[in-house]
This record gives sequence, structure tokens and C-alpha cells, in this order.
Amino acid sequence: MKVQDARRTCLFWVSACLTLALPACGMDVPDVGALPVVYVPPAEKVEILSLGRGQTFGQLLDGTINANEQASLLLAFQDHASPRRMRQGTEITLRYLPDEGWLRGVDVAISPDQTIRLDRDVVGWHSDLIETPIYVDTLFASGEIETVLWSAVVNNPILAGLTFEDRNRLIDHLDRVFQWQVDFSRQIRVGDTYRFAFEREVRPDGSMRAGKLLAAEFVNSGTPYHAVYFDPNGDGQGSYFDLDGLSVRRAFLLKPLAYRRISGRFTNSRYHPVLNTWRAHRGVDYAADAGTEIMATSDGVVIHRGWKGSFGNMVEIRHPNGFVTRYAHLRAFKGDIVLGTRVRQSDIIGYVGQTGLASGPHLHYEMLNGGRQMDPLSVDLPAGDPVPADDRVRWQADKVARLDLLESIPRSGPVRSFVVDAVPAQSTELRGGAHK
Ligand SMILES: [Zn+2]
Repeated sequence: MKVQDARRTCLFWVSACLTLALPACGMDVPDVGALPVVYVPPAEKVEILSLGRGQTFGQLLDGTINANEQASLLLAFQDHASPRRMRQGTEITLRYLPDEGWLRGVDVAISPDQTIRLDRDVVGWHSDLIETPIYVDTLFASGEIETVLWSAVVNNPILAGLTFEDRNRLIDHLDRVFQWQVDFSRQIRVGDTYRFAFEREVRPDGSMRAGKLLAAEFVNSGTPYHAVYFDPNGDGQGSYFDLDGLSVRRAFLLKPLAYRRISGRFTNSRYHPVLNTWRAHRGVDYAADAGTEIMATSDGVVIHRGWKGSFGNMVEIRHPNGFVTRYAHLRAFKGDIVLGTRVRQSDIIGYVGQTGLASGPHLHYEMLNGGRQMDPLSVDLPAGDPVPADDRVRWQADKVARLDLLESIPRSGPVRSFVVDAVPAQSTELRGGAHK
């Protein structure tokens, strides 16, 4: 029996080692024996409650402490937050002395990152603000697309330890970095590959507080695109550049919706999120849930905001160099968008709907130049701004370090290499963000 157990443990270890690809794993698992169970009585009894709809903090405390104690507790609470501003569902932990049932403390999780700890002593209640401890790590992942990008990332076994929401947030980060180079909803091809190094702040429960891509590579139809984070001032306000030190930003976003909001991502490749091709009706239709935010794809001035026949609610924006963009079938306009409003790229202008002639909620998007419609993917836009001359030396060092990170990630697709060099001129062969 013992032997069998040991073997089972060992098999488990082997498979665990294979999964984690650890370098060494001995077959001999020493028998450590069993330790006697030690019973430690709890230092306090806890009761975890959640603030109900329309319930106040005071109401939740009714019956546990008297009115005077309650007033003292709420006063202490106000040192850090307003009891009137507590959201429904806020987790409140009541801590009692185990024997007497005397309430000795209350913890209020006011956000995933902050807890107000209220403690009671002979004088009354006092409070402390406790910041949830976080640690920083770097996530490395690579994958190949079999159907759509969304499932390639969400189902990536490397990322299995992350929550579903956090995996979705990774997709948002990738989309925001590559939104000027690749329309993830229209341009992804089977066999496309990605690699990225993502620095994240993690809470003790494993959830992600924040994060940023340090370096990313996306190979679309054989063309590699790179984005390397660069923050010359170290103030967290950095941005992304390609291997030539040119900003990944362009005058136009390729699409006016976040990739994650475009439906079709849950299904296989036979279902395409784009309802019609550009050729069919001189615009692009993106299926998305009603209410999804719509972004202006470039800086400009609103020249139409209102009803326009079969287009329903429509916004039209005039941009420099004779460009105009149209956004149709909107459920509603963003409140501050009126005729003549100046908008910046990525500003929210309205929400997806199905007004006018539309069989379901979707966004009809058009791009025109000189009055003629064009496919947003075919417009050749000038390259982004280069890293400022003063920051070139720093950029070169950062780039080499971050590309080393990227190079350390094994590729899961066809092997392609790019040059990590000290001289920018040598890397022109495979530069990211290049237009064909
Ligand atoms: Zn359309």
C-alpha cells in the first residue's frame, strides 16, 4: 500500500515536472512520514458579510454593537473613507473573540487594493488603512493562432494560471499596442504567431492589479511587427516603438472598436466577426454588443451628428489631408459630441446600436478620402515619429535588453529571427510596422 502510494506520488511528480518543464526530477521520493495533527484554537471567530443592496454600513452592524460604539466605529472609518460611498457587495469581515462573542474588529475591503481595518480597545474604535501587498513578475508567453487571436491567448496553456478576466486584459494590452498595425478582427490568419513579455503587479490571491507589455512580437501573414516599451523619463508614461525606433502610433487606428468587444471571438474561424467585406458595400461592419464604446480613429472635427436615413444615428468626422470617417447605426452619441466638436484619436464618440437599416447591433465604419471610400487596411500612412534624438542612447540600451527578453521566449510557430543590434541601420530587413 505504502509502495503503491509512493509510486503514485512519483508519477504525479514526473507529470508535474514534464508540464512545468523543470530541468531535473528524481524518481526517488523520500518518505517523510506523517506528522501528528496539531489543533490550534482560532484566535478569533470571523464572519464574512457582504453589503446588501441599499443597506448601510450602520444597518449591517446593527445587533453586533450598540449605538454609541457604532458612532465611534463610523467616525474611525471616516479617517480613510466615507461610509456613505460604500458599494453594494463590499466585503465586510467581523472579527469576534472566540469565547465571549465580543466584536473586537471589523475589516472593510473598500477596493481590491485597500482594506480599512477597524480595531476596538477600551477607549473605542480606531482604524488603519492596509494596502494589499503586491509583487511584480514578468509573464512570458508565445502562441500560434489556430482560429482567432482571442482563443489563442485565452486558451494558451502557459497562461492557464491567470484568471479569465486577466487573460482578457492581456488581449486588450496586445490590441492597444498593435491597433495601428494589425486589425486583430480582420487580418488574423491561421499560423500567425505572437510572443510577449508582460510585467504585471500581482495580488496575494493571484489576480493582476496592473501591468504593461515590455516587448511584443506579432507575425501576421509572414510580416513581423514589434513593439518595445520605452519610458525615457521613468514616469510610467512610456510608449511603444518598433525595432527602428519609430513610434507604433499612426494618424489612424485601423478599427474604431476594441478587439475584445468585437463579437465572433468565441466561435471558430468559419464565423467571421465582420459581416461584410469592404468590397461588398464600401464600408466595414463590426458585430458588437449594443452599447460598446466607439472610438474616433483619428484627430478631427465632427461634421455630422444625427440621423441620416438608413445609417440611423451617425457621426461623421473630418480629418486632415481630405480624410473623413463615418460611424453608423449608433444607439447613442457620447454626451459631449456635437456638431463642431474637436476630437482626438481614441476619444469615445458614441455607442454601438442598430438604428437605421440594420439587422442586428453592429457598427458600420467608413473611411473616405476626397469623397471616395477606401478600405482602412489599404491606406498607406506615414511612419510614426522616431525616438527623440536626446533619448537615442537610452533607447538603444533599453531596446537590446527588452528584445533579449523576447528572444528568450521559445516560438511556437515557424522560426523567424530578427536582428538585435547596436546599429539601427542593420535591422531594416525585418522591421516591424512596415507597410507593404
Ligand atoms: Zn455596413
